[in-house]
Amino acid sequence: MTFTNFKLAKMFEHGVNFSCQMCGDCCRGFDEGEVFLYRNDIYRLAKFLNLTGNNGLRKFAKRYLKVIENTFFWKEDNAERGKTFRFNTLAFSFTGEDEHCHFLVNSRCTVHQARPFQCRCFPFWKMMVSSRKNVINYSKKCKGLRLLQGHYYSRREILSWANEEYRIEKEYFIEMRKNDFNILKVYPFLTEDMIDK
Ligand code: SF4
Ligand code: SF4
Repeated sequence: MTFTNFKLAKMFEHGVNFSCQMCGDCCRGFDEGEVFLYRNDIYRLAKFLNLTGNNGLRKFAKRYLKVIENTFFWKEDNAERGKTFRFNTLAFSFTGEDEHCHFLVNSRCTVHQARPFQCRCFPFWKMMVSSRKNVINYSKKCKGLRLLQGHYYSRREILSWANEEYRIEKEYFIEMRKNDFNILKVYPFLTEDMIDK
């Protein structure tokens, strides 16, 4: 695999120990964030839930997704002062008083095998592994990051997760740009009313 060259924060340079402590806080978007999904996540999860075909995808979208307006930022490759794009993307809608993901039950993920990439690769998001400041920030929210114990992830594994995340996001940007940044064209199973939610 060819890696996009980005600098890892010092604490990740020789790998790191991390094990999820199963508190479920990231599945509540840490009270202020979102859980984003991309095309493959949607198809995988909808299939896992037996919501297939156009109708299935429509149902899946209505039940579990929301459009987040203008929250996706993308800066063109190698463009220090390049144009930054800002556009809509999809995330899980949350439920309950504590605003949790629909699939979180008793602090456990009930769709573990089919969970979105964002859930799978946490905490090795590019913005995290390339910034000590972000790790410190997130370690206030995630016990696993505070402890840094348990399973050892090598530098190569960390880069591999972060690169895959970058690839997925870039693919989404390209798809959106091709479709005039209209999320309804990219995901025809969404309906207009979801944009105003
Ligand atoms: S916040 Fe951290 S410890 Fe809690 S469930 Fe998420 S990854 Fe695991
Ligand atoms: S899909 Fe699973 S891991 Fe992801 S936010 Fe929902 S409950 Fe958490």
